[in-house]
Amino acid sequence: MLDTQTSTKPRSLHDFTFAKLERELVGDGLRPSHTRALWRALHREATCDFSQRADFLPPLRRWVDANVGNDARLFADSPEVVADTASSDGLTRKFLLRLDDAQTIETVVMGYTGRHTVCVSTQAGCAMGCVFCATGQMGFVRHLRPGEIVAQVLLAQRTLRANGSALRNLVLMGMGEPLHNYDAVMTALDIITDSRGIGLGPSRISISTVGVVPGILRLAAEKRGYHLAVSLHGASEEERSALVPASRRWPLAELIAACSTYSEQTGRKIFFEWTLIAGANDSPATAERLAALLTGIRSHVNLIPLNPTNGFSGTATAAAAAIEFQRTLKAAGIPSTIRQRRGIDVAAGCGMLRAEKTRVSR
Ligand code: SAH
Ligand code: SF4
Repeated sequence: MLDTQTSTKPRSLHDFTFAKLERELVGDGLRPSHTRALWRALHREATCDFSQRADFLPPLRRWVDANVGNDARLFADSPEVVADTASSDGLTRKFLLRLDDAQTIETVVMGYTGRHTVCVSTQAGCAMGCVFCATGQMGFVRHLRPGEIVAQVLLAQRTLRANGSALRNLVLMGMGEPLHNYDAVMTALDIITDSRGIGLGPSRISISTVGVVPGILRLAAEKRGYHLAVSLHGASEEERSALVPASRRWPLAELIAACSTYSEQTGRKIFFEWTLIAGANDSPATAERLAALLTGIRSHVNLIPLNPTNGFSGTATAAAAAIEFQRTLKAAGIPSTIRQRRGIDVAAGCGMLRAEKTRVSR
């Protein structure tokens, strides 16, 4: 006999927007007004423990007891922390999280006084194959669900609150390509920006993309107003595709045009990420080509010396050459900042902690 109970896959409460959670409750005969209490527990108080909640009225209490938990049809996302490392300067804390299917992802909490930022992953692995990136080197495993993205932000909330501080900013700059997992990422952001819960405003959120042109155009058309960071790394097709193989699908001219459209539609300047790699993309001639490419777009370039990874033999650009690169951009009127990826000692480059732990445990 077919068991219809076990044939439906359990769903996560953290995958639901407020409206969807309300539909779920109403569908089960509850009044819509119960949604707020459950939403508050999930997203404002960042808890998955519903056992002692005085604000759950009896119908909601009974519904939760009957429907949420192990072996029930609904569950709450709370990934297990398998590693929690702090950098020696105390400003970066990096978590390795194990998902339900034993996949591991990274979440990084970065703190400057009063300004805390969480960097979340959007996929396990990545299909884009950037040669210098530890996540790219492992290949694509799977997309994250909205709840798995939201749960990383909630973990950061709990961590920061325990230290008496609060979350200010979110960057989608961890493992994976956010615009390759568009729908799940946008649902996660709808949940994260909901003022009844986490309530981070769009201007506090940055999406970093390798340059998925259709995704950028869709984002522009939807006018969601998030900051956009585009990982460029090369100023000619040849230079770029050697580092970012996926870029062959979206020519530079199309990418820059999509960035212009995004900037015009949202009024935002575009951040361009540039990993500086000695001899690969750090010459004065490249800086001039980059400046020419960005002329006419409201932009800011972040120059980031390469974090070495095991699967790539390149080295970081020396400080003097980085300053020279920046000077060339400045002379052409393009603003930039030279940044260090925070906490190299906690392997805070994208995908590096996971790569390290996997190596150790083999
Ligand atoms: N997939 C998205 C977001 C995640 S990667 C993207 O590519 O933008 C976040 C940033 O880290 C990107 O700018 C990426 O180029 C950079 N990055 C990845 N590996 C790096 C490394 N080893 N050293 C320096 N920057 C790196
Ligand atoms: Fe993917 Fe970004 Fe890494 Fe490239 S840099 S492989 S797009 S995660």
